Amino acid sequence: MKEILIIGNGISGMMCAIRCAELGMKVKLIAPGPSEQSQSVMAAGGINAVTERHEEGDSVQCHIEDTLKGGAYLAGSNAVKGLCSDAKEIIHYLERIGTVFSVDEQDRPLLRAFGGQTYKRTHYCGSSTGKHIVSALVMEVRRFEAAGLITRIMRHHFYSALISDGRCYGALLYDEDARELVPVYADALVMATGGQNCLFGKTTGSSRCDGYAVGRLFMQGAALKNLEFIQFHPTTLETPQKRMLISEAVRGEGGRLFYMDGDQKVFFMEDKYGPRGNLMTRDLISREIVATGRDVLLDISFMDKRLIDSRLPEVRDICAKYRGIDISKEPIPVAPSVHYFMGGLAVHKDHETNIQGLYAVGECASIYHGANRLGGNSLLSAMYSGKVAAESISGKDHKLEPADFENYILAEQEGFKKMLDAKSPFAAMHIRDMLADTMREHMSIVRCADSLSKVIEDVRYYLSVAERIQYYASVSAYTNYSLSGILTLALAALTCADARRESRGAHYRSDYPTASDEYRAATIISYNDGNMQVSFDRENAYED
Ligand SMILES: Cc1cc2nc3c(=O)[nH]c(=O)nc-3n(C[C@H](O)[C@H](O)[C@H](O)COP(=O)(O)OP(=O)(O)OC[C@H]3O[C@@H](n4cnc5c(N)ncnc54)[C@H](O)[C@@H]3O)c2cc1C
Repeated sequence: MKEILIIGNGISGMMCAIRCAELGMKVKLIAPGPSEQSQSVMAAGGINAVTERHEEGDSVQCHIEDTLKGGAYLAGSNAVKGLCSDAKEIIHYLERIGTVFSVDEQDRPLLRAFGGQTYKRTHYCGSSTGKHIVSALVMEVRRFEAAGLITRIMRHHFYSALISDGRCYGALLYDEDARELVPVYADALVMATGGQNCLFGKTTGSSRCDGYAVGRLFMQGAALKNLEFIQFHPTTLETPQKRMLISEAVRGEGGRLFYMDGDQKVFFMEDKYGPRGNLMTRDLISREIVATGRDVLLDISFMDKRLIDSRLPEVRDICAKYRGIDISKEPIPVAPSVHYFMGGLAVHKDHETNIQGLYAVGECASIYHGANRLGGNSLLSAMYSGKVAAESISGKDHKLEPADFENYILAEQEGFKKMLDAKSPFAAMHIRDMLADTMREHMSIVRCADSLSKVIEDVRYYLSVAERIQYYASVSAYTNYSLSGILTLALAALTCADARRESRGAHYRSDYPTASDEYRAATIISYNDGNMQVSFDRENAYED
């Protein structure tokens, strides 16, 4: 029986575990905490699919075209075809396992439009779709746990992969309770570690998604893709702890963006792009908001209060709780913030990376969203990629050849122990905060060569400090050992942003403000002995 190790228990990790178990494989599902604490529970607005109950005129082909166009034609077209074609089955599966989507009085699914969609095709559960999907998947995971096919292991973190001669044999994990590194061998290792929020500090997402695992795997030889494409969500609310998402569902329900010019309301998106202006893609709206140079507001107060209560209860509660705003009476002050990472581990259509036996699914993999993700497509890709990876693993002969990791494991364990015993006054967290400040300032919605070279210099300096200090005073061993992986990932993202001398999707360069055919290709970055190498995948080699 094949044994699979999955790191991360959000929607993509759980879906992969369930499908592996259905196919008769044995799974270890690893994460620091329960699935109910993964970022997936934050997903609000919904999941896209064209089902038999679609809006008139809509089709799977139209979903494919919207996705490719929204991603500025950088997404893998075969992969997107698979994603959109399977979406209907994914909705039915979710219903079967207990996800209750919002319906009208006739029991027909309610659909909403997200930015960049030609038709309404987003299925939702009020404004807490992620929570409902996670609950249903957790029940399924438990069912397979009872059958002895899935084992959930918490309070464990990824440390590194066990790789020899381009083949992955499992991972070294940090066990928080034992405070030691433990090897876990597996026929396939599946990464499902989500986005890279820590690179930017305050974002809409979870601080558990820090990008470390992706950074570390990069240093171990895994190629990364499209790192410069970072989605800024146009409508977020400032709070002391983080940026709270004001879901696109508000605009999907008719919400209007405006700013005040004296006592006049200026509906700048509608003025420039017509009646669908508030539902343009996220990259474009974010840039337009920045271009106004004003404080922008989002108004939904004209909507019937009962509809607000039934369709947007979470948005209503967030605004009331964090800022004392009653959205049925007043507009919401909004600003763009980092929200989603289109880039990550480069995977083939079957979700295997360039390292045999190493797979990536969900937000940490890069394949479906090109230069900009459409709202509602991420939950879909998390579900779909989990399935595809499991089926691919099941179909391949991943027979383990013996590989000797004893020396590697002993050396890492020894270094780790030294780190735990060290008493340095230097805190790793300070470097992470400095990184986040500089990334927010220079790797923002509008970028340029001068600013990028400044931040590249800064991050190189942080890395050199990190290499010299090695051991820090810190709140946790994880914060210590994750630092160099996070800094390396940041440097890789900046290097990609510097190399792409055009503007496309979420990557906007004031010094190269238009798209160029020369760059109509995915960015691939690899790491060799401390050197990073960027190339552009014009043949779409990674998709097939
Ligand atoms: C506020 C918000 C609202 C959103 N709304 C929507 C929406 O309406 N529709 C939509 O399609 N998308 C939405 N998204 C995006 C979507 O929620 C995510 O892209 C998706 O849930 C990611 O799922 P995932 O399984 O890849 O990762 P996650 O759910 O982020 O799970 C990652 C897992 O990896 C674990 N992990 C991370 N690092 C390590 C490590 N080093 N070691 C061990 N474990 C680790 C984490 O603890 C977690 O268990 C939203 C995102 C946010 C932030």
